[in-house]
Amino acid sequence: MVSRSLKLGNVVPVALAFFCMHALAMVIFKSHATTATYPFLILASTLALLASSWQARVMSSRVRLPWVLFSIGLLLWTTGIMLSAWEELFQHISSTAAFFSDFVLFLYGVPVLLSISSSTQEQRIPLFVWLDGIQAVLTAYLTYITLFAVVPFTTRTIHPISESLLMWVYTIENLVLACAASLRLLARPKTGEERRFFQILCGFLWIYAVCVGIYNYSDFVKQRNTIVDAIADIPFLFLAIAAFFPAVRDGEEKLSAPKKPLTLFIDSAVPIFYTAVLIALGIAVIRSHFYIGIIAIIVALAVYGIRTTTLQSRYMQSQHALQEARDRLEEMSLKDGLTNVANRRCFDQVLELEWHRATRSQQPLSLLLIDIDFFKMINDRYGHTRGDDCLVNVAIALQSVVSRNSDLLARYGGEEFAVILPGTDSSGAKNIATRMQDAVAELEIANESALGRYVTLSIGIATYQFPGAGTANALLETSDQALYRAKEQGRNRIELSAMPAFPNASLTTG
Ligand code: GH3
Ligand code: MG
Ligand code: MG
Repeated sequence: MVSRSLKLGNVVPVALAFFCMHALAMVIFKSHATTATYPFLILASTLALLASSWQARVMSSRVRLPWVLFSIGLLLWTTGIMLSAWEELFQHISSTAAFFSDFVLFLYGVPVLLSISSSTQEQRIPLFVWLDGIQAVLTAYLTYITLFAVVPFTTRTIHPISESLLMWVYTIENLVLACAASLRLLARPKTGEERRFFQILCGFLWIYAVCVGIYNYSDFVKQRNTIVDAIADIPFLFLAIAAFFPAVRDGEEKLSAPKKPLTLFIDSAVPIFYTAVLIALGIAVIRSHFYIGIIAIIVALAVYGIRTTTLQSRYMQSQHALQEARDRLEEMSLKDGLTNVANRRCFDQVLELEWHRATRSQQPLSLLLIDIDFFKMINDRYGHTRGDDCLVNVAIALQSVVSRNSDLLARYGGEEFAVILPGTDSSGAKNIATRMQDAVAELEIANESALGRYVTLSIGIATYQFPGAGTANALLETSDQALYRAKEQGRNRIELSAMPAFPNASLTTG
């Protein structure tokens, strides 16, 4: 940081000295002003080109492409001004009409517009970069045949563009670029390399539009032999200085913040810029170059179609992936991680739901609370892993008995399971409970106790029967009381309890 600041301190006076020397040269070599001004312009644009290329090298991949495109634009500008110098100083071509150098200078805007419209890293699709490239080349070709049509591609100059029209073409081009970049800057995040790129680009393009506008106008009114020539250095010197400002790397994480609707709108609208320009140019040339005009319109529409279809299919893909992730998350939040049956949370939700359904439809509802007998002994004797295996296998055995879609087996907690049986009366529930005991007995999971050699279950059953009263919670408490009784009375038993509304309906089996 310190060394960069020091460099910045050196760079500003150097730039000022450069500007003053150019202005001074204009005054001293008044009669050879054209000869004197070109070296300064070439040097200034070369400095800007070097600064921009350096940025393209040191910046992260997020903004490398825009910086590279901007550098290509500056390379075209430097080439254009060199050609202009060659045409004027060595070929002695009058500057009353446009020549090839003017076309090259105009072309500088094509990669710059591409850099403005290039999408942000997260949206950048290689196909789109190619499509934009094709549109850019076609745009350049169409401007050539509509506006320039100058040597060396045409042997004779057909209606060469006049100086006044050329001045307007440049002014409009510069203003369009500056406005497009400002629009993009408006939509950029508050921090980060991307914002910095658009800040520098915007600064450059606005200064360029003003300074080069003045320069072109003075050229048009033949007032060029003044220090006005030095003004054209300013945007390039600005760019060279701006490149020395320390890059902002903080706040990059803010880029993941949700984008504002305006940002999203501009981001989506900017790539259509080129399509619109191409269609407009296609329509403009259709009378003089029918096939080229038609091709331009078809290409523009095809690119638009491909872009829209690709984005639409990507959007649908991401929607699908999002839905899948959401489903998985929901499933995870309702499942027990160890046994893969429903968890307590799911159980609570379903019980509440089934309770209301049962009372509304006047159907019975049974609830089983299942507890593995002397489970702690498995852990103590064989370790927790065997205890876990036991839980998993018991869950599988219990699930094999629960056959109806509406039935729900859940892990209630620890070594306890619960089963919701909608539309099932107490005898049906007892039947299921017995089959569950049998299924677990068949597993023959070792756990020696007073009850025998293998793992056994104690089960408490509660049944709601219309027109009984109560709540889902009361049903749960009733089944818990039944389970408690089963434990108390020796384990490996099934106990049934009716809801409190039926105090005499309690019956016991062993
Ligand atoms: P009872 O017959 O009275 O039900 O006796 P019990 O040993 O089955 O019941 P107790 O409540 O004394 O012990 C339950 C044990 O279950 C204690 C706890 O460490 C164990 N446990 C709870 N969850 C898990 C689990 O996810 N994995 C394993 N391995 N053990 C668990
Ligand atoms: Mg227990
Ligand atoms: Mg137990």
